[in-house]
Amino acid sequence: MNEPVLRPLPLCEQCWLENHTNWEPQSMSENGHILMKLVGVDTPEIVTPGNVDICCMCGSITISGIYEMTDPTKAYFLGESDESNDKFEFNFGILDDD
Ligand SMILES: [Zn+2]
Repeated sequence: MNEPVLRPLPLCEQCWLENHTNWEPQSMSENGHILMKLVGVDTPEIVTPGNVDICCMCGSITISGIYEMTDPTKAYFLGESDESNDKFEFNFGILDDD
């Protein structure tokens, strides 16, 4: 088993928020849906405000300056530029058989 080598990769604010917002159930609506409220947002460990970079997940240009220690093979956008793209397709195949 190889440990993934983590690198600080740039994330736009949108992609950061996708995985780092904390929600709590607040109440139940009349039709049984649980209403959630936002209770917090994780603070990025590495922040360099004003740094122009390209989000490793969606490819947008970002100046959020947010970096997250990420396994480069799991970064969607970077994954397109090298051989790891093949691995993604392979992984999807496994999911289909599951
Ligand atoms: Zn993004």
